Amino acid sequence: MGKNYTEIWENCLSIIKDNIHYQSYQTWFEPITPIKLKNNILTIQVPSQFFYEWLEEHYINLLKKTIKKELGNEGRLEYSIIMDNSFNNSKPYTINIPTSDRRATKNPSVTMPIDLNRGGKSKDIPNPFIIPGLKKIKVQSQLVENYSFDNFIEGDCNRLARSAGYAVAENPGKTSFNPLLIYSDVGLGKTHLAHAIGLQVKNNFPNKIVLYVTTEQFTGQYIESVRNNNQNDFIHFYQMIDVLIIDDIQFIAGKEKTQDVFFHIFNQLHQNGKQIILTSDKPPVEMKGMEPRLLSRFKWGLAADLQIPDLETRIAILQKRLYYDGIKMPYDVIEYLAYSISTNVRELEGALISILAQSSLNKKVITIELAKKMIDKFVKSTSREISIDYIQKIVCDYFDITLDMINSKTRKREIVQARQIAMFFSKRHTKSSLATIGLHCGNKDHATVLHACKTINNLIDTDKQFKIYVEELEKKIKL
Ligand code: ADP
Ligand code: MG
Repeated sequence: MGKNYTEIWENCLSIIKDNIHYQSYQTWFEPITPIKLKNNILTIQVPSQFFYEWLEEHYINLLKKTIKKELGNEGRLEYSIIMDNSFNNSKPYTINIPTSDRRATKNPSVTMPIDLNRGGKSKDIPNPFIIPGLKKIKVQSQLVENYSFDNFIEGDCNRLARSAGYAVAENPGKTSFNPLLIYSDVGLGKTHLAHAIGLQVKNNFPNKIVLYVTTEQFTGQYIESVRNNNQNDFIHFYQMIDVLIIDDIQFIAGKEKTQDVFFHIFNQLHQNGKQIILTSDKPPVEMKGMEPRLLSRFKWGLAADLQIPDLETRIAILQKRLYYDGIKMPYDVIEYLAYSISTNVRELEGALISILAQSSLNKKVITIELAKKMIDKFVKSTSREISIDYIQKIVCDYFDITLDMINSKTRKREIVQARQIAMFFSKRHTKSSLATIGLHCGNKDHATVLHACKTINNLIDTDKQFKIYVEELEKKIKL
């Protein structure tokens, strides 16, 4: 009671800021979000296990001192770590660890407390059974401030979903996008967009009750209510919500009882003009293990997908992130990152953090060489797929021409040859079809790509110097 956790953390930050390098401060402290203060334990959320380990290793004394200063001798610190669970489909979950208890994270999949809510951004869930006053629910919307529309970069990849989300936030429950279902592969911004809608609703309509839950949380609460024999309280709680956001609804697959109760809640909310927002890794037609009546409900509104962002959007996402964290990074490094990691925004951000960490650790300036080294490590462990974009970039750099040139209509010999080489490597290193490769390399058809591959193979066999070029390029592409 008394002091508020944001204030406390602000005070800590101002002390910390005076005691360490500014860049280290930006890298390691600005991304931290305080999430609660209870029994003199301040919980701070950190973006990854790596981050947590870093803090424990380098800043623990400073942290301890500052916490004691703010909270007195009894003051403690606890981390809430957003984990990437590589054993389970790389859905993030969080784990809470008191400070200086490093053992606990060594193998999180084993030592995880049973009640841990996998798949959630946060471990705290509102307790549905103390029917709280409206105020209390408002406080526990579980929305993450950073996941705002402002921070969500718009691109062709997300235009429909984003504008539908925006429309919903302007007029919750009153558009035909009810439910709004956002689907995509992992790491493309579903959770972010879902939060953005929730935050925007709260901005527009402070009195509306918004709740974000993961499907695991929802399921867990339901099971708990069955155990305690108070399912009605559970249902009542959900019926009070004006905007219900359920993340990763695919996890409800095969859980018949939970589907039943969700169906019930869905109908009630929908009938009363309340807004429902769902996210999923698949469109409704491809969802398995779902009751047909539920699936048909999902199809009532709008299902909008998020695609892989194109290069410009990836660059914009990185720039926004850097701007937000107040960090400067050379443009060529940003571009390089965006080229190299093309299929998953979360990985892109992970690589960015690794580079920042690396430069802060070794007190090195951030250069393209450093970036290459990091990407190499990072990408090896996540088995990167080489993209056509990336190959083009390498080829262009090698021959010192621009991307525009390689994709232009020009018939200049060097350019044509560079383009053919890019096609040849795309065929060799990506799973893309000839048609797709053609499309990305100057809007050519599949026959042109096939011809290019033959030409390059011939040249390798007949021209020694050319063969050396190709071998050098091959090395660069594989880094
Ligand atoms: P998903 O829920 O689809 O797995 P997330 O919403 O967790 O993906 O997104 C992964 C990361 O990528 C988050 O940090 C998110 O902020 C970021 N991100 C994804 N898309 C965008 C975007 N268009 N603009 C800014 N950040 C994005
Ligand atoms: Mg998600």
